[in-house]
Amino acid sequence: MKRVADRLLIAGVGLIGGSLALALRQRGLVGEIVGLGRSRRNMRVALERGIIDRVERDPARAAEGVDLVVVAVPVGAIAAVVAGLAPHLPERAVITDAGSVKGPVVGAVERTLGASASRFCGAHPIAGTENSGAAAATATLLEAERCVLTPTPRTSRTTVRRTRALWAGAGMRVETLPAAEHDPIFALVSHLPHIAAFALVQTVADAGSASRALTYAAGGFRDGTRVAGSSPEMWADIFLANRRAVTKAIDQFVGSCTRLRNAIAAEDREALEAALADAQRVRRRLSSPGHASARRRRP
Ligand code: NAP
Repeated sequence: MKRVADRLLIAGVGLIGGSLALALRQRGLVGEIVGLGRSRRNMRVALERGIIDRVERDPARAAEGVDLVVVAVPVGAIAAVVAGLAPHLPERAVITDAGSVKGPVVGAVERTLGASASRFCGAHPIAGTENSGAAAATATLLEAERCVLTPTPRTSRTTVRRTRALWAGAGMRVETLPAAEHDPIFALVSHLPHIAAFALVQTVADAGSASRALTYAAGGFRDGTRVAGSSPEMWADIFLANRRAVTKAIDQFVGSCTRLRNAIAAEDREALEAALADAQRVRRRLSSPGHASARRRRP
């Protein structure tokens, strides 16, 4: 495989940015990796773990001689980070991101870049865990997982080709989807499960005897709430950026909960079992060996 960049800049060296850097380095697909970050502590971890070669705090210095930029900061900060870097980037440099919401991010970045919007291609690597920061990054996190690119009519073919090579270089299966299709899909299969997990923990915590109840929490509670351990900053950004699709998904979920609640209250065993069996059937399909989501443990 050909090198994807001689000098790669990762803005936001956390779980995703750090894992991408480790995977590319392990495969020998990059020359130098520069990190642009926020807290000194996280950047020290990134340096100590060999994820990046050097740290820059000033966007102008970070952008010097860079071929490719990956912006892997929380969704609400992506456009501002691009705005800080763009005036200093060499003409050949291509920019991509890792944001979990695409429509508003791609729109804001394209407005920021103006006439040079052709150098940006939005991306969403569909992999992750509930852990954050450079300490949580691994060389295998992205391997064999999907990565969705969301180019627009303004994105140049060269930008799409180089962005595809970057994420494929980390072992990902790259595909494209319009941002307008991406956001409602991920509201359902990713953002809603996080809402449900946060709400589930909150419900138990708000109940009077929460601490006592939690003593007895076992597999079911742990499995259903694992992602409630995720970063509040990152997920608040995602829910707010995708608010229309997320609120619609929550309304649908409340409808499903209400149907189950009503069947239980009415002691309607037939309706209750039918609803549970429907859900069981769909869930079993997800675990079948041929299904893409069965490839790895963590969505
Ligand atoms: P993360 O582990 O928290 O990493 C984000 C990093 O960005 C942190 O190191 C943070 O610095 C840094 N940062 C925050 N604001 C910054 C700014 N203004 N300038 C420079 N650096 C900044 O988060 P992540 O899980 O890697 O997520 C990164 C992006 O990938 C997000 O857009 C998210 O939506 C997306 N994504 C996440 C997942 C997932 O499951 N986690 C999956 C797919 C996509 P500090 O260390 O100082 O906080």
